[in-house]
Amino acid sequence: MVDDILLRKLADKTHMDQWTRLINSVDASQFQIYPSMVFVPEDVTDVINICQYAYGKETPLTPRGGGTGLLGQALTKGIVVDISKHLNRIIETDENHVVVEPGVVKAVLDKELKKKGKFLPPDPSSSNFCTIGGMIANNSSGAHTLQYGSTIDFVEELDVVYSDGSKSTIGSSIELDQRCTSLLPIVLTKLGLIAASFPDTSKNSSGFRLDALIRNGSYFPQRVFAAAEGTLGIITKAKLRTVDIPQFVTLLVCVFFNLVGLLQSVPKILSFRPSAVELLSFGHLSSDMGQHIEKGLTDLPTIYVELCGESMARLEQQVDRCRSALKQRCISIELLSDTTSCNAAWKERRNSLNHILRVSDGNKKAIGIIEDTVVKPSLLEEYIPFVQGIYDKYKLDYVMYGHIGNGNIHTRPLINVQSVQGERVLEHLAGEVFLKVKELNGSISAEHGDGLARSRYIGEMFGVDTYRLFVQVKKIFDKKNIMNPGKKCCLLSKTI
Ligand SMILES: Cc1cc2nc3c(=O)[nH]c(=O)nc-3n(C[C@H](O)[C@H](O)[C@H](O)COP(=O)(O)OP(=O)(O)OC[C@H]3O[C@@H](n4cnc5c(N)ncnc54)[C@H](O)[C@@H]3O)c2cc1C
Repeated sequence: MVDDILLRKLADKTHMDQWTRLINSVDASQFQIYPSMVFVPEDVTDVINICQYAYGKETPLTPRGGGTGLLGQALTKGIVVDISKHLNRIIETDENHVVVEPGVVKAVLDKELKKKGKFLPPDPSSSNFCTIGGMIANNSSGAHTLQYGSTIDFVEELDVVYSDGSKSTIGSSIELDQRCTSLLPIVLTKLGLIAASFPDTSKNSSGFRLDALIRNGSYFPQRVFAAAEGTLGIITKAKLRTVDIPQFVTLLVCVFFNLVGLLQSVPKILSFRPSAVELLSFGHLSSDMGQHIEKGLTDLPTIYVELCGESMARLEQQVDRCRSALKQRCISIELLSDTTSCNAAWKERRNSLNHILRVSDGNKKAIGIIEDTVVKPSLLEEYIPFVQGIYDKYKLDYVMYGHIGNGNIHTRPLINVQSVQGERVLEHLAGEVFLKVKELNGSISAEHGDGLARSRYIGEMFGVDTYRLFVQVKKIFDKKNIMNPGKKCCLLSKTI
């Protein structure tokens, strides 16, 4: 009764029409789920109220930002809470920080920070649409994560609303709330297990990031929300660290004779401490599909190597050394240093996925399941030919590109998942590739997350004991399993 009075109070922010539900039934994944309603909060009090309502009714609640998630993270048959419409202010900036509401779009924030010579380095290709809340919840990253780190490395403080409607501010120098207090001993008593079961990679968005909570004897509870996909609480405010925009930047466009030479060169390139090393799209496509994306595909294996610094003279020396080290293996190395050329080159790289997502041949589409694996860069020589071998085995066309400097490869097979056979192939392919990723101590997701597509693999990837820890974490923060159920780990029988 109280719940229904509450809902009536929130009626003008609640949408149950077919059109709004349709828009919110999809994201950038291959899934579609209609929510029962879409709630558009105007302030934190609205967020608290809708949480209290959902808690009372035991209805699933899923926060949503730009809806650009690639694995169905923001989809639910319960209530979608659209954070992007109103909770999108940049609240304040100081020398090294910015405080924002979670619905602010990354590109809007970039523009504002640029005026002060600052930036927030994680740079997803979807920056024109994705929100800071979504970036934190997926622990997003991008080309410049190689030098600077992923979103998790920039989150200093968070305001969150938990599923029961209680509100908390979380940070390493803030008094711990009851949930973050309960989390601490779980992590402290299992540091060995966590170290042994987490991937040995420079980025990871799979599972809960228990490996990042204790550093140099300090506890960073806010980091448990990074990569949590809205399963622990709704972020309503974030304080993020910002850094100076580098003074001088040079981009080398290196075209290699072959992929083997490219992969063998990665560890050497990394010794020059580049700010980004990116693989441009290549693939194997039958002629029909090739026409669709040939514009966005390279014929020969090509990478971007970006070097940056505060001294032009030192940067030039570094560029020369890097060029000499690569020239034997490259057909050409083009040097770009003016802003217009660099921006044009980066635009091409940023559009890789946009282009690929549009490819279809009848019911065959570029499907994301193994599209975000990461291994140590020195292992790519073994890993990439392995994946190509699996594609050959199942006679699949594919595309491949990504953040090769981090060992993070974005690759998608073209499969008809409407057919039983296509679904079966995808299942086998994922099983075989993920097993290899585990053997190489990598992760099934470097930056895109687990969502609907990959959450079921988490137990196998981390092992049963660590999966139990994840379940404990979920119980601490959301014991009734209200917040985005079915993502990350499963509690009770409730799904999505
Ligand atoms: C063309 C394209 C290119 C992309 N390139 C990249 C890339 O380079 N790097 C990369 O990392 N990703 C990339 N992505 C994936 C995606 O854009 C990012 O993960 C992005 O950060 C998601 O943000 P969003 O606002 O769209 O989140 P949504 O999709 O709306 O939500 C993602 C998750 O965040 C949760 N969430 C949203 N807001 C909140 C909140 N306030 N509190 C708690 N949880 C919340 C949702 O519940 C959901 O689980 C790309 C996607 C596309 C379509």
